[in-house]
Amino acid sequence: MSNASSAELPKIVDPYKLAEHNSVLEGEIPLSALSRFREAVFGFEDGAVCRVKLSFYKDSERRRIVSGELEVPVNLECQRCMGPMKSVLVSRFVLGLVTSDEQAQGLPKDLEPFLTDDFSADLWSMTEDELLLVLAPYPLHDRGECPANEDLKAYEPDGSSEKPEKKAGDNPFSVLAGLKNTKH
Ligand SMILES: [Zn+2]
Repeated sequence: MSNASSAELPKIVDPYKLAEHNSVLEGEIPLSALSRFREAVFGFEDGAVCRVKLSFYKDSERRRIVSGELEVPVNLECQRCMGPMKSVLVSRFVLGLVTSDEQAQGLPKDLEPFLTDDFSADLWSMTEDELLLVLAPYPLHDRGECPANEDLKAYEPDGSSEKPEKKAGDNPFSVLAGLKNTKH
């Protein structure tokens, strides 16, 4: 239960210096600090964090690059039952460091720009942008797990293509769904 051992990801860094030194930063960002993300999701556990690993380097064209991966446990809002849906968001990304729109235009297509000041960048804000990008626009529980599933079944034109019973064994929740379905 101690947070003391887990290091927080630095918030403001000089990304160009980090790229010169091929630095790797690894750490956590408290989700409570990411207000835009907090508004975009149903919620999360108290003390939940986003785990981030960032590698800074120069590519063969001497462009400054930051590549990263992140993982965050979160509750999304199921758009069928409007209830919470446990999920783990995972993302990988490769960004080209730029200090102007002009530089951003010059990046190859496979590099998204990360617009920074000359000597500083906000890694928390950048991570939050990536989190918002990876959010599903229309999250839904699996059919067997959604409390609204029973209600909706009657309205579906073709209920035969995907029977929840067939999914029993996929995960612990489908066992519950299976029990529910035996009552007809
Ligand atoms: Zn649902």
